[in-house]
This record gives sequence, structure tokens and C-alpha cells, in this order.
Amino acid sequence: MWQTIGQERALALFKRGLASAQLSHAYLLSGPPHIGKMTLSMDLARAVNCTGLERPCGECESCRKTGAGLHPDVQIIGLIKNEDTKKLLTEISIEQVGDLQRAASLPPFEGRTKVFIIDGAELLSPDAANRLLKTLEEPSPNCLFILLASEEKLVPATVVSRCQKIDMRPVPVATLEASLRQGHGITLDMVPLVARLAHGCPGRAFNAVADSAALKKRTDLLDKLVMMIQSGYDERFVYAGQLALQFGQERARTCEILDFWLEYWHDLLLEKAGCPELICGIDRTELAALAKECSLEEIRSFITNIRACHDHLRKNVSAKLALENLMLEMPRKDIALPKETASLKES
Ligand SMILES: [Zn+2]
Repeated sequence: MWQTIGQERALALFKRGLASAQLSHAYLLSGPPHIGKMTLSMDLARAVNCTGLERPCGECESCRKTGAGLHPDVQIIGLIKNEDTKKLLTEISIEQVGDLQRAASLPPFEGRTKVFIIDGAELLSPDAANRLLKTLEEPSPNCLFILLASEEKLVPATVVSRCQKIDMRPVPVATLEASLRQGHGITLDMVPLVARLAHGCPGRAFNAVADSAALKKRTDLLDKLVMMIQSGYDERFVYAGQLALQFGQERARTCEILDFWLEYWHDLLLEKAGCPELICGIDRTELAALAKECSLEEIRSFITNIRACHDHLRKNVSAKLALENLMLEMPRKDIALPKETASLKES
């Protein structure tokens, strides 16, 4: 059974290839983080060595070993840690590709096909990418290479040209909802919200279910944003100062807050434009009232300001200045505060 959610075109292609024994020797799966690239590659890895009738059966010894990461013919190559500093290296090295080549030159240990999954093809060092080219050009028989990339444009064109490209598309909300309803420890009333906040990426939905604190944090941050929309400059500048201080200690958290803001104001734009069915934050009960208070131009303009602030923070402009300026630009409106949202997990 395939565990990939959505991606019907890719699954149809792989099923045809398996049925006719005409799979390509190398695939490049590209799509944003959490879209399901690793799930799809593991599905394919299980399928090529499955001994069941309907491949991948998920039950034969080969499928179970692959699923548990114990199949000797399935290797995942990704970033590794420096042995001394224990920090993650920033590139996949030529040595790692050399090890892959040696392994690929040997016949499979117990399956039909050796599978090599390169997790982060855009992270191959130039030397590693060059060395991999030879293997992709003259593949050993019974070898399957699956390259995964979040940013395909960063993968050397020479590598891309030797793979069959599979573009992974955002999974429709209805498909995500159906999957979440199949029992992932989430209350049914939270399914529509979690499915929308995933932006088409199943991994994001499952992460939200696994970490209920993350959804609570989003609610708190958006409540604070709504409070700021109603506040004067004094309160806004105090908050800007807090965010700037936090940026100095943990940049990612402040950037994450701006991402939440961007998503919120984008929802507001959709509400204002008369497309409420496309809104992600369906729990934000104040959106309709706020959209009535804001003009389309105000919303558009503030979205541009959030993006500019993000950009300034990336370019190391004074965080305090950038955030204070953003607070100055935020439209000031009086609206009712949101009600408390339901809890995510079943108790
Ligand atoms: Zn099987």
C-alpha cells in the first residue's frame, strides 16, 4: 500500500513503470519541505523490492525492513555531522558519493534492486555532483537513484538532465482532510483548520498534530497581532522592542512570527476579495469584521510592508528600526477580540 498522500500523477507513473518493468534508473522528486518527498521515495523503495502481490504490500519482509530502515539494499544519503564538532555539515561530500558509487557497483544483497535516496540534491558539493554524474550516466544494473530537492533550481542542471523529473504538487485540502480523519489523534473539529494551515504539505499537518503546543502558540501570536491592530503607538513600540530583543537571541522565532502575520494578512485579503472559502485561518472569527474595517489598499500595502520587514531582517538592517517601522505602517482598527479556539488533541 502506498503511503503517499495525494501526488496521483507521480503514483500513476510509478505504478505503470513497476507493472511494465520500465522504471527510470534515476528520479528527481522536487517540491517544498514537508510535501512528502521522502514518503514517496520510501514507497518506491519498498515497491521495487516487495515480494507481495500488490507492490508495495507493506507486509512482506522486504517492505517491513525498508519501512524500519533496516533493508541492506536501501540507503539514504544526506547531510552528516562533523565527527569532531558534532555539527551538521552544510554539503553532501564527494566522499559520500564515492561510498555510494562503491555500493552501487555491488549486486543487491537480498532484494532485486539497490535503492539510493539522496536527501537534499541541492546540497551536493560541486565535486560530489560531478562525481555523481558519472554514476547517473552509466548506471549499474539493478540500481535506482532517487534524488530529493526542495529547491530544484539549486540542483546542477547536468544532474537534473540525467533524471526523470517528478514535480510534487500541493495536496488539495479535501485530500488532506480525508487523511487526517483516518485517525491521527486529532479531534474531528480541528481537521479543517489543520488541513488548511498545512498549505498542501502533509508533513506540516502531521507535525501540527504531533505538536499541539505549536498551534496554541500560533493562536497566542495572532491574538497579540489583533491586539496590536487595536493599539496605539506606545503599545506597538513596546512589542517591537520585545520582538527586536528576541531577534537578537533567536532570529528564527521572530521570522516565524512575521510568517504568521503574513498568512493572517493574506487571509484578510482573501476575505476582503470575497473568497472566504480559500482562507487558511478559519479559526480567526474576527477576520470578517476586520476585513470590513480595512480597505483593499491598506491590506495590500501592509502585506508589502511585512515582506519588506522580513527582507530587512535578513539583510541585517537594525531589527528594532525595521520592526518599529512595521508597527507604524500597521492599520489601526477597532474590532472584537477573537474567541478562544478549541484544543487540538483529543483528551
Ligand atoms: Zn511487500
